[in-house]
Amino acid sequence: MKDSQWWDVSWNPVTGCTKVSAGCEHCYAKSMHDRFFQSTPFEKVELHPERLSKIDSTKPKVVFVDSASDLFHEKVPFEFITECFSVMQRNPFHTFVVLTKRAKRMHEYFIWARESNPEWHLFYPLENVWLGVTAENQDMADERIPYLLNTPAKHRFVSVEPMLGTVNMEIAVRTDRGAYAYEVLTGKHWLFAPKPTIGNKLDLVICGGETGKGARVMQLDWVRRLRDQCAAAHTPFFFKQWGEWVPDMNDSVMVRSRATGIGRKLDGREWNDLPWRKKAEPVKASAEVQLSLEVK
Ligand code: SF4
Repeated sequence: MKDSQWWDVSWNPVTGCTKVSAGCEHCYAKSMHDRFFQSTPFEKVELHPERLSKIDSTKPKVVFVDSASDLFHEKVPFEFITECFSVMQRNPFHTFVVLTKRAKRMHEYFIWARESNPEWHLFYPLENVWLGVTAENQDMADERIPYLLNTPAKHRFVSVEPMLGTVNMEIAVRTDRGAYAYEVLTGKHWLFAPKPTIGNKLDLVICGGETGKGARVMQLDWVRRLRDQCAAAHTPFFFKQWGEWVPDMNDSVMVRSRATGIGRKLDGREWNDLPWRKKAEPVKASAEVQLSLEVK
């Protein structure tokens, strides 16, 4: 595993996807697909039930769920998503990381899951699952993070990758009555009241620049401001990589990384705080809980 990689293995019960926002423009999964699987278009979303039983359980691992797709894509039936979570529930020694750009549908799925199974509260949320959304810019942070915070989860994270603009972690949550401020790293929010209330918060921020042909520039200042917000809130921060553009020797302009290498240092050091790497104790699943998760 490279230092820049936050997962050990990927598990893809779904393949294929369609673009939803600016962060998808140079989709890595699509470029890999177009290179190796030209017979099927990447946009064809396919379910692979045969992969549900193919989880290696010899050693605890960090498993990136659907690295080549989006588990909450509109073409993935809720029943199939439940089957995927059932596998995660039956493999408590692994840490599963579910990252989506379809935060609204993720939120809708969990409402459906709760309403369609009276025993839902017995097993959800799962201790060994991290739910995350991509927020490549402020608009996506404002749109997706509120859905994530309103979705039941033991651990929540945001991936600011590819970072396409400055991202302020005090977001504006829009409602029918107007917008209110929410500090997503601390949980403090001002719901039309002068005093803050404490709600759900993010447990990790991942940040990275874009790689490959046509990669867009991530400015040094954007990364520093994001890192500083995390430091002030004591939120773990993982800086994955600079990408195609890196700061020059004086940190004054961004230059192509071809001469220098992509690099991961920010202000002279790496930022590698990944909470799931610190996890030591596997979570035990009870037989009762396992039974309740079976999909009919
Ligand atoms: S959501 Fe992810 S997998 Fe799907 S097109 Fe966008 S970047 Fe690619």
